[in-house]
Amino acid sequence: MKHKRLIDQLSLADKVSLCSGLDFWRTKAFTEYNIPSIMVSDGPHGLRKQSEESDHLGINNSTPATCFPASCALGSSWDRELVKQVAGAIAREAVQEDVAVVLGPGINIKRNPLCGRNFEYYSEDPYLSGELATGFIQGAESQGVGTSLKHFAANSQETKRFTSDSVLDERTLREIYLAAFETAVKQGKPATVMCAYNKINGTYCSDNKYLLREVLREEWGYNGVVVTDWGAMNDRTAAFEAGTDLEMPGGASYFDQEVIAAVKGGHLSEQRIDEAVDRILTLIFRAEGNRNREITTDVEVHHELARRTAAESAVLLKNQDNILPLGKSKRIAIIGSMAKKIRYQGSGSSHINPTKITTVIDGLDLYNADYTFSPGCNEDGSSDDTLLNNAVQEAENCDVAIVFAGLPDHYESEGFDRATLSMPDGHNRLIQAVARANPNTVVVLMAGSAITMPWLSEVKAVLHMHLPGQAGGLAAADLLFGAANPSGKLAETYPLSYGDVPSSGFYEEGGRQAQYREGVFVGYRYYDSAGVEVCFPFGHGLSYTSFHYAQMEVATNKDHVAVSVLVSNTGSLPGGEVVQLYVSDMQRGVPRPQKELKGFHKVFIDPGESKRVTFTLDNRAFAYYCTRHKSWQMQQGSYNILVGASSRDIRLQQRIELDGDTQPVCDQHLQGTWYEHLQGKPGKEDMEALLGQKISGPKHIKHRQYSIDNSIMDMQGSLVMRIMFKIMERQIGKSNGGVDYNNPAFKMSIISATEVPLKNLCIVSGGMMKKNVAQGLVHMANGRFFAGLKAMAKKD
Ligand code: BGC
Repeated sequence: MKHKRLIDQLSLADKVSLCSGLDFWRTKAFTEYNIPSIMVSDGPHGLRKQSEESDHLGINNSTPATCFPASCALGSSWDRELVKQVAGAIAREAVQEDVAVVLGPGINIKRNPLCGRNFEYYSEDPYLSGELATGFIQGAESQGVGTSLKHFAANSQETKRFTSDSVLDERTLREIYLAAFETAVKQGKPATVMCAYNKINGTYCSDNKYLLREVLREEWGYNGVVVTDWGAMNDRTAAFEAGTDLEMPGGASYFDQEVIAAVKGGHLSEQRIDEAVDRILTLIFRAEGNRNREITTDVEVHHELARRTAAESAVLLKNQDNILPLGKSKRIAIIGSMAKKIRYQGSGSSHINPTKITTVIDGLDLYNADYTFSPGCNEDGSSDDTLLNNAVQEAENCDVAIVFAGLPDHYESEGFDRATLSMPDGHNRLIQAVARANPNTVVVLMAGSAITMPWLSEVKAVLHMHLPGQAGGLAAADLLFGAANPSGKLAETYPLSYGDVPSSGFYEEGGRQAQYREGVFVGYRYYDSAGVEVCFPFGHGLSYTSFHYAQMEVATNKDHVAVSVLVSNTGSLPGGEVVQLYVSDMQRGVPRPQKELKGFHKVFIDPGESKRVTFTLDNRAFAYYCTRHKSWQMQQGSYNILVGASSRDIRLQQRIELDGDTQPVCDQHLQGTWYEHLQGKPGKEDMEALLGQKISGPKHIKHRQYSIDNSIMDMQGSLVMRIMFKIMERQIGKSNGGVDYNNPAFKMSIISATEVPLKNLCIVSGGMMKKNVAQGLVHMANGRFFAGLKAMAKKD
């Protein structure tokens, strides 16, 4: 242990106490031992430092900071170096604000496009997510600022986010939901990993020995701090045993006494606590290096970086007749309220208080564009005949119409899942009406996750900005006028309809128990294998120039395969191309996706020039996770190496033979199941074959057998909890401008307060809900009114 001498001086109570925070954002100081306190703050696309009223929902104010493009945008940049630069800038702002750890990046897999928090994650693909997360971690940590890789793991929905149980087989867990974490942990070495709220196969992540001790620490060699998500601690004793170090937020000391009792009673070894303290002390002392570092960041320089990043992350989805970039002499009808009030970030804990905001209108003025403006719809996405007619009239009178549309705040947010894949009806109607009035209609999208585009064939171009950060308006103008050339690629598939999504039908039903029935067939792994037509494939994105792929060379060596291709810019503008490499296992015994991303490079090439792009594939690039042998295995046989510009635009391919480390195997138990034919939707029986056991369904919460592990929502069978709900609804309404389920801040707060187990509410409410009051309420809900009163009267 690094800090053994110091640890030996601390009492058991001190050590346990150090393992939970002082308050919402800080660790405890022990001045008598020269242990200072450090502060952590949310990321991932900016710094959310709260000096006053604190919360984990992004509601109260925070110190102004640069709001960079959200992860949905950064993910579409496919640019490790750019992500590194952004993280470095965020970290420098953190140093300036004396923040030791930025809580990001978030790399949960976009399992289903309805996940309300997809905007905060990079991709549906673990390789891309892991590579970009590594860039983020390296960029921030090179400034001496820690990161928190979150949310570990299998946390791909917001519905019942505090208690849901992700049920999945180990192969799917390893290949899809852990792989990005594995890469980021091994390559990036983040100072902290944040364990998620949910359970995996019945065990909360905070107590999950398999996840934290066996996989993260023993297999991957991680020796940084595991911190809980805010209020995610379930059983503190089990959590120490599993390898969780720091409980956040602090302030309640809720679990301290039971941990001390567990050590004294011989149920928990003090060694486990010492190990946690040792790791926490390493984190704290490391931050000392930055304490006296004088650093001033320049708001304008970071705004410019945010602008360049937004431009590089935007994806040009369609560009018929090369309508973009626009000539300066064109008269343009700018339509849509989002042109003025751009949607540049999402709601929730990642919500940044930006240093400044530049709208699309600011951007147009910068280019001296000749334009008119018409809102066409209301800020909430609705529209009416007057708004539509005015917009149509503007469109008729101009050479080009550009409609700014997407998802308003209340359509996607942390804390709840989306209700639909559609944009607001007002936006869809607006685009359709404008496109009928002007054949030169361009749509600029601002949305954090996949949407359907019923108007796609009627418009000439679609430029997707995602949630582009505070300089998004300028970046949009840069792209529209050709000062920047689009080079982003979709990091998630855009399906034609929600029914095509492999997990549709059971994702939205899976509240308390999320059955990951589709297994490894997530995103393009499913669409491409099942031959399902999509709106836009994974990896898709156009440019104002064109690229040609040639001269593929593949060399098979003992422990790796070297691949290279020559990419040429055959157009007339400088541009960036993301060259993607997929591997296809030709053996048919184990159901595997038709192709999997195993390499990518973003290259910038001048017109008429060429660059050779090289990839090195190790054995793991060809392996699948064998649950029976509990290891990664590469089967002997043929593999196809595919190189292209999207998962469905493969330009070059070559077949190779590999010795492998096993003979081709056959997953007999999967014969005849959905995983073999991918027709229709996977059923519960298919998944039971995959798991090798029956799924019992979520545990029924029995009336009057409630406990402190239940939430107010779980206990709605009781009158007292129905009254509690109403009281909380009113209270939360008061501080959020009224009871309004269309206000994401209100909705997230009420859900968070009433769906979190009562014991965790005691922790996240900052002491507002006392342990004895919670216990009293539970007694009452169980019909023991006087026992409840007695508990409430007791001193906590
Ligand atoms: C979120 C985390 C966030 C934390 C602190 C939680 O509700 O899930 O991503 O870092 O709050 O704000």
